[in-house]
Amino acid sequence: MQIDPELCIGCGQCVPYCPVGAISLGDSAAIDLDECAECGCCLRCADCPVEAIYQQEMEYPRTVRSILSDPLTIATESGISGRGTEEMKTNEVTARFKEGQVGVGIEVGRPVSGARFKDVEKIAQAMAAFGVEFEVCNPTTSLMSDPATGKFKDELLNEKVLSAILEFSVPQETLPEVLGALKAVAGKVDSVFTVCVACKADANEGIASYPYLDKAGVWYAPNGKTNVGLGRPLAKEA
Ligand code: SF4
Ligand code: SF4
Repeated sequence: MQIDPELCIGCGQCVPYCPVGAISLGDSAAIDLDECAECGCCLRCADCPVEAIYQQEMEYPRTVRSILSDPLTIATESGISGRGTEEMKTNEVTARFKEGQVGVGIEVGRPVSGARFKDVEKIAQAMAAFGVEFEVCNPTTSLMSDPATGKFKDELLNEKVLSAILEFSVPQETLPEVLGALKAVAGKVDSVFTVCVACKADANEGIASYPYLDKAGVWYAPNGKTNVGLGRPLAKEA
């Protein structure tokens, strides 16, 4: 995103709308392009009185910032706007998470901190060591040069996004080790991340992942989502 200094009157109205603090104010406002995650918030929400904010022409790899940060940009890999797949964002509709497996979603970065792919890569590589298969429909996976090792394309490593989500599933017994590896890599990551664990609820035995979370010694907030239908689920388990 950019601001036309010839038009800007320095009113400062756009500054608080930037979630990563990329807009500075002097006689006129200016956007630090290295810090800007291309979320589109300033353009859409700040209501600039002189229409000085404009979307510059973007080329790859910068376009990746917009794909993962701007909720109005549709990722071709997932067919949805935003960073994850429908299973992680709303409802498990394709029976992806089988019995005995837990789905893991790791969201790296939040507004304020954002995340660069060199940090997303550190987490992806720590997870790849467990032989995980990153979800192919997730746009983040398509940005890897080698999903088997969690390596991202070199030209993306310094690109900044509001957040990127890694998705995969593991056998539930492996969960404590996976969470231990995440704790170990956390100190090396120059951002924040949250971890979401998803599994099928068993009518008799409840939430299968709880004992494994307890074994890992992590604090967790149990949340449930209920798929109320609307023509779904899209797949049936055999
Ligand atoms: S596009 Fe988003 S990140 Fe970039 S300057 Fe505007 S509000 Fe900030
Ligand atoms: S809202 Fe418009 S005029 Fe005001 S500081 Fe931002 S870019 Fe300049």
